Amino acid sequence: MSKAKQGGNNSECIKVAIRCRPMSKNEIKDQREQVVRMDINKGEVIIQKSSEEIPKIFTFDRVYDQYAIQENIFNEIAYPIIENVLEGYNGTIFAYGQTGTGKTHTISGLPKDPTHKGIMPRSFDTVFKSIECDTKCQYLVRASYLEIYNEEIRDLLSKNGQNKLELKEKDGTVYVKDLSTFVVKSPEDMMEVFNEGTVNRHVRATNMNDTSSRSHSIFTVTIESSQIGPDGKSHIKVGKLNIVDLAGSERLDKTGAQGEGAKEGIKINLSLSTLCHVISSLTDPKCTFVPYRDSKLTRLLQDSLGGNTKTCMIANIGPADYNIDETLSTLRYASRAKNIQNKPKINEDPKDTMIREFQDEISRLKAELEQF
Ligand code: ADP
Ligand code: MG
Repeated sequence: MSKAKQGGNNSECIKVAIRCRPMSKNEIKDQREQVVRMDINKGEVIIQKSSEEIPKIFTFDRVYDQYAIQENIFNEIAYPIIENVLEGYNGTIFAYGQTGTGKTHTISGLPKDPTHKGIMPRSFDTVFKSIECDTKCQYLVRASYLEIYNEEIRDLLSKNGQNKLELKEKDGTVYVKDLSTFVVKSPEDMMEVFNEGTVNRHVRATNMNDTSSRSHSIFTVTIESSQIGPDGKSHIKVGKLNIVDLAGSERLDKTGAQGEGAKEGIKINLSLSTLCHVISSLTDPKCTFVPYRDSKLTRLLQDSLGGNTKTCMIANIGPADYNIDETLSTLRYASRAKNIQNKPKINEDPKDTMIREFQDEISRLKAELEQF
């Protein structure tokens, strides 16, 4: 696929945040050196081994150190995206990083614990709270949950064990054929759906040697709102929120470092290596081709990377010296991802878009007149 033209009025870069977890008990016991420091005010991550003279410094939209609390991460990163999804935009939040750095902790956390619950349960609460407060619109909320393992798409909510689903494309949008979707009416409903799917993921893990660090999961919440306009007709907007917990990124680097093993690494997780290629292509001015079609994950996330979606990437890292190569690799990819430009737009009938744009223009002109 040729690279989308970038720039323009409504284009915006994807937001990138870094979160570093605390030292683990074992790392403290083994007296590992802490090589990651953060300057929260400047948005800087500073990597320095005591033996090294010059620190490596990376700058991001937000950085979160070991003391960061789940509530702040949700409010600063996820909440704005959820507000946009309720307005009819597509939104994607994804966690990237080495296994054991806190992706699942950030995305799910401890769902029943008010302090430690992650982005997912907080998003569910926020969606339904906002819907309850809005008396002008009627809403329909649906959920689906899939995983990509070894380039096969599995429906985590399937009642009949149906797996290996196919990707299809209609009107330029990629979707998964026959994926189960459930109508949900409360945060509790949604949590039940999420737990059911997560159990299916875990059941597989027993015979697949830790599925969660080799597979990607995408939980999708579709929010359809309908409002009666001045013309007496109902106007529909559809926002879609993807919450993505990616496979551990370390395999790619480790196999890559072994030369011959690189090919094998690509086979083990083609989706993750393609994601890195897509990020590189989108941010290389000389590159005119983006290989979305090379993997299932990148095809599914095509709109989120260089497309019409409001996207946020949380890159998780560990603080200890023995992970420094993986940490640097994560930071490099996250730095590149900062430059990916998306052009978010509301999903609605094109006629409604025109009317809304006219209304915005009228408001703008009125405001201008008032200044005279
Ligand atoms: P990943 O999903 O990236 O493989 P996990 O989320 O499973 O990593 O985290 C690995 C371990 O580290 C878990 O025991 C988790 O509870 C802990 N952990 C991760 N991030 C944090 C954090 N910010 N604060 C406290 N514990 C954390
Ligand atoms: Mg995990």
